[in-house]
Amino acid sequence: MSSLQLVWFRSDLRVTDNPALHHASQAGDVAAVYLLFPQQWQRHGDSPNKLWFWMQNLIELRSALKALNIPLIIRTSDTYAKAPKQLLDLMSQLGCTHLWFNREYGINERQRDKRLIQQWDQHNISCHASVDQTLFVPGSVLNRQGDYFKVFTPFKKHLYQQLSLDDLTPLPKPDKQRPLTLPDEVAAAANIDLETLYTPTANSIPTYLKAGEPAAQEALESFIQELSHQYKDLRDQPATQGTSGLSPWLVSGTLSIRQCFYAALLANNNELDSGNQGLVCWMSELIWREFYKHILYGFPRVSKHKAFIEKTEQLPWGKDPSLLTAWQQGETGYPIVDAAMKQLVTTGLMHNRLRMITAMFLSKNLMLDWRLGEAFFMKHLIDGDLAANNGGWQWSASTGTDAAPYFRMFNPVKQSQTFDPEGRFIRHWLPQLKALDNKSIHEPWVLKEKLTYYPTPIVNHSESRAKVLAAFKQLG
Ligand code: FAD
Repeated sequence: MSSLQLVWFRSDLRVTDNPALHHASQAGDVAAVYLLFPQQWQRHGDSPNKLWFWMQNLIELRSALKALNIPLIIRTSDTYAKAPKQLLDLMSQLGCTHLWFNREYGINERQRDKRLIQQWDQHNISCHASVDQTLFVPGSVLNRQGDYFKVFTPFKKHLYQQLSLDDLTPLPKPDKQRPLTLPDEVAAAANIDLETLYTPTANSIPTYLKAGEPAAQEALESFIQELSHQYKDLRDQPATQGTSGLSPWLVSGTLSIRQCFYAALLANNNELDSGNQGLVCWMSELIWREFYKHILYGFPRVSKHKAFIEKTEQLPWGKDPSLLTAWQQGETGYPIVDAAMKQLVTTGLMHNRLRMITAMFLSKNLMLDWRLGEAFFMKHLIDGDLAANNGGWQWSASTGTDAAPYFRMFNPVKQSQTFDPEGRFIRHWLPQLKALDNKSIHEPWVLKEKLTYYPTPIVNHSESRAKVLAAFKQLG
């Protein structure tokens, strides 16, 4: 094989440890393509914050590829349905017969790729698909009965038995190739201004979040070296920088899961369960990401807005717009919930503990349809990811795989007292409550004097708890 190879970049915006790019470059000279799918992304509810960050990473990828003499051709395709024809035309213009890409696992992405491979059989084009988003091929981690694991701990245990540092060694970036001359019709296609294609709605995206592989690698390195040993103790405190902050890069594929896991395992002397407890705990969190991707693959209904536990579809989920708006705008009267929602809308990110608290509040206290919350998160998150977001929402609503049992319901005040004891996080996001003492900051309604500048709770915790428990009990 020595003809030109075409690599189709998708959610893998990096040149190092990129299986499709690596294997293609072993086979011959490489050109690269990225298809923009504005309509499809809109249908998926991806946020302008996320798309903006992806475009910044794409710009960086283009430069990194250019340094290797690999041209990146960018085309707008609108929807997935148009992709096969568009790629076929491009391949014919380039005179190349080999397409390389890394697999994606959402139902629409899988259908798109299946259609493409089927349609291309007759055109004598070979498609080479690699596994990239996960440590193991989804569908290959099964229990003794040959079924998917539906509970996290045995999934992790099974997976850990097969993990070895050698298998995780990240792939190098390709060598610099000789300069390519693209055919005129390809080179002449209009250049798209990626810089201005999307404007973030969040007005305070964290400054550490720089686009491109060097920034992502630096953040990984500094987490492993400087923060990881405290991760287990600090990861649940939203007022502290206790987690890695790597999710936006992992979702855009600017950083790979192998690079993360390899770095952690190497720093922990190849120990999965002992050694640096921070790293042990962090690796386990990375496996949650893996778990939800396998679930997405094995149970396509979760891609289609369906509950994993099918009987929970019968629960009387509400849609009350005034309750939903109060939650979205951070005006529920529960400071920890409101502060978290302000963080989401302002920064495009939310701390994991707060994602659980706010998701449980919406689905259990307000008993609103968890899908409304899931969509709102997607509309704002820079790290919006179907598998993790859906997994997290269904966990919180007790409709999902290995979900919180329905009777284990967070009390938002207790969560607030435990994880933000001095109210530092609340004070930052709700400055109007700054002067409150460390007790009433979590439950301002206990103050003798009613606050005029902060809402009274829109729901009573005990009453709503009783209501949701009764609804779940009725399901049997
Ligand atoms: P760290 O604590 O440093 O963890 C490292 C990495 O492990 C993360 O970057 C992420 O890739 C993975 N990870 C950690 N916890 C989880 C988890 N519970 N589920 C899946 N992967 C995990 N994560 C997303 O990447 N995208 C989402 O859209 C998303 N939506 C969520 C919605 C809800 C309701 C909940 C409860 C969780 C959601 N998560 C999501 C998981 C988690 O909140 C984020 O991955 C985490 O907050 C990212 O911060 P970090 O990179 O500092 O994480």
